[in-house]
Amino acid sequence: MTPPSTHPLNPILKGLLPNALEWLREMVGINSFTTNKAGVNRLGSLTAECFAQLGFTPEFVPSENPSHGNHLFLSYGNPDLKPIVLVTHLDTVFPAEEEAQNNFLWRDEPTQGRIYGPGTVDIKGGTALIWLMLRSLQLSRSHLFEQHRWLIAANASEEVIGAEFAHRTAERATTGAKAILVFEGGPREGNNFHLVTARKGRALYRIQAEGRAAHAGSAHAAGANAIVTLASAVQAAAQVTDYSRDLTVNVGCIGGGSVVNRVPQEAWADLEMRAFDPHVLQEGCRRIESLAGGPATPSEARLQVDCTGTSPAWPASSSALAMLEHWRGAAAALGVGIKNVSRGGLSDANYLCHLGPTLDGLGPSGANAHCSERTDDGSKVPEYVEPDSFVPKATLNLLALESLLSTSSPDRPSQLGA
Ligand SMILES: [Zn+2]
Repeated sequence: MTPPSTHPLNPILKGLLPNALEWLREMVGINSFTTNKAGVNRLGSLTAECFAQLGFTPEFVPSENPSHGNHLFLSYGNPDLKPIVLVTHLDTVFPAEEEAQNNFLWRDEPTQGRIYGPGTVDIKGGTALIWLMLRSLQLSRSHLFEQHRWLIAANASEEVIGAEFAHRTAERATTGAKAILVFEGGPREGNNFHLVTARKGRALYRIQAEGRAAHAGSAHAAGANAIVTLASAVQAAAQVTDYSRDLTVNVGCIGGGSVVNRVPQEAWADLEMRAFDPHVLQEGCRRIESLAGGPATPSEARLQVDCTGTSPAWPASSSALAMLEHWRGAAAALGVGIKNVSRGGLSDANYLCHLGPTLDGLGPSGANAHCSERTDDGSKVPEYVEPDSFVPKATLNLLALESLLSTSSPDRPSQLGA
């Protein structure tokens, strides 16, 4: 067995790592909060520059939402081939004001083995890892690099997830993808690398109660208290949670009423529901929707239930598990292990998985994504990436890719021989 540190790819990757981390430092230095359109576009330009070195051609595609920046597609190779799609995103969850307020910026802490900063693991570190992998592939296995079509797809607005980016990606992979590889962070637990092969789908709902206002002192009985009726509905919605089927309901926001001496006529609650199995999710949706109706008595409010958004599940599939075997094989050759995990959180994999076999969690290790606060007692620590994880993860990914690409059926340009 060859531990990652003695693999022949190791010196090449190690030699390129400072360069990859320098790209990462520059990327983290650009605020790219989803609605900082100029920042997202500046990061897009920098990312295009980073991959121009490798011969990639950029395409900037405007978002439908005018407050979002451009999606970025970087391509290399014969456009008639099915691409290997390497998925990342440009945006982060941190407004510039929050970064300034919490002094949250690039902070290299070698003694801790961490680099703190906005997007270091979610997901600018993933972009830097893609660069590291492809540059070393070019240098060490140029035939493999040249034989295939590569499409780096960078979503401008992953953090407010939606279907649009997947549509733009599908337009650039009209016959499907050889593989969809998503570079969200992947923890390493001892010698085991976590890889993701399924993610939950999600449905969002608003429940609104419409009651009848009344003077709380002189005409209490004439009122229909919207908050009280809503509270019962919230209890019923929460009970749809069924951990045995990985079905969760989270009532996340609630509001209603105006002053305490008035029977409230309005109240609302927002909830989200998640499940891996689309049928389980659908059944949960039916149960939430069945809360609508009423009132059964004059003192109750009428309930309205509206679905305000859905994201499809990425259910466990044989194609993802077959692809995972290439990573298992590579891990075995390196003397490490793979832990196959399913995640409750959404990523672009939810929307892209229909294009081809999909794996997620291919990025570097890190933690505390979406956190910017730091306290002296260490109870709050912001997002960070572990720079030492880049070379082992790149080695694993490259060996697995080599195995995948050498065994998968060769697809030819559709015009070949014509
Ligand atoms: Zn995120």
